[in-house]
Amino acid sequence: MTLKAEADGRMFPTTDRSDTVIDCFLNRARECRIPLFRNHPLIGIRQGDDDCFVLEFGNEVAPVLARSVCFATGSLKASPLLTQLEKLNQPTETLVPSLFAFNVKDPRLNDLAGVAHPWVAIRREGQKSPQLGPLLITHRGVSGPAVLRLSAWEARELAQSDHQFTFLIDWLPEIEVAKLKERFADIRQNQGAKLIRNTPIQPIPRRLWERIVTCCGIDDQITWGHLSKTAIHKLLEALKAASFHAEGKTTNKDEFVTAGGIQRHSIDFRTMESRVTPGLFFVGECLDIDGITGGFNFQAAWTTAHIAATALARR
Ligand SMILES: Cc1cc2nc3c(=O)[nH]c(=O)nc-3n(C[C@H](O)[C@H](O)[C@H](O)COP(=O)(O)OP(=O)(O)OC[C@H]3O[C@@H](n4cnc5c(N)ncnc54)[C@H](O)[C@@H]3O)c2cc1C
Repeated sequence: MTLKAEADGRMFPTTDRSDTVIDCFLNRARECRIPLFRNHPLIGIRQGDDDCFVLEFGNEVAPVLARSVCFATGSLKASPLLTQLEKLNQPTETLVPSLFAFNVKDPRLNDLAGVAHPWVAIRREGQKSPQLGPLLITHRGVSGPAVLRLSAWEARELAQSDHQFTFLIDWLPEIEVAKLKERFADIRQNQGAKLIRNTPIQPIPRRLWERIVTCCGIDDQITWGHLSKTAIHKLLEALKAASFHAEGKTTNKDEFVTAGGIQRHSIDFRTMESRVTPGLFFVGECLDIDGITGGFNFQAAWTTAHIAATALARR
């Protein structure tokens, strides 16, 4: 599999296809002659005799006894196994969605689906540190790396607000307010005859710029030379701290990852075995580990799987 690195360090296969990653593992499993049993959903696990776990499958195969069980089930959010693991005393952290887009109904975004801004700063109202990155306007609101980062870093707080919250977008994070004022003054002096709607400040995409200008109540025919002080103030605010309200997140299946899961303190990270219920191993997303997109979740899944497999092979 050939990989490419994005400017911010995120890595993807050059094909930009997820099945490239899947094929990579399936091929390796075939090479290593690892048997795969399809359609064998694990529906039950309980403590049996002789330090064994009893595993029950949903396709009428006889229960299986196992001394060690490695859970690589992905998110436990909708899994019936969660309560059973808790019955085995395995501690868990509350499961909340992470890496999701925001639903926003706002005239400033209407009909702009598909418009991408290369670099914004976005933060939840009341928070100081923003997340930086590209932003994509979608049919439902906003998405893209900057939004996904915010959804990941504040996954728990956003879940507590039932994903109804106010956030602020700085469309020009590379230019401080004072510098932007100077820029405006310079344009007014040297290009005063130009129409405002025709002179977007880079890198704001033209269609978005036109919409911002309109939503500030600035008429299409107004030139920089004729821009009132009130309008300048409005434009500055609309560019540097545009306030939006999120009315929920993209639906359940569209989020990329789950935060929460098997409590980290309960795991011996040298082997991935539970300290509380010896014999149970946990790898990947079922653990309370989540990262941003760009390979960090995959890396966590593969690294923990490698550690567990090595430990299990030694037994
Ligand atoms: C649309 C999307 C895009 C993503 N993009 C990225 C990205 O760019 N970068 C990144 O790092 N991460 C990304 N992720 C997250 C990443 O895919 C996961 O974190 C990662 O796949 C977790 O690996 P895992 O092996 O733990 O779980 P999974 O990949 O979810 O695999 C778990 C497997 O276990 C099976 N299973 C579950 N329960 C049972 C059961 N009871 N019995 C039998 N089998 C069971 C499931 O069917 C599944 O095949 C994305 C996720 C989504 C949904």
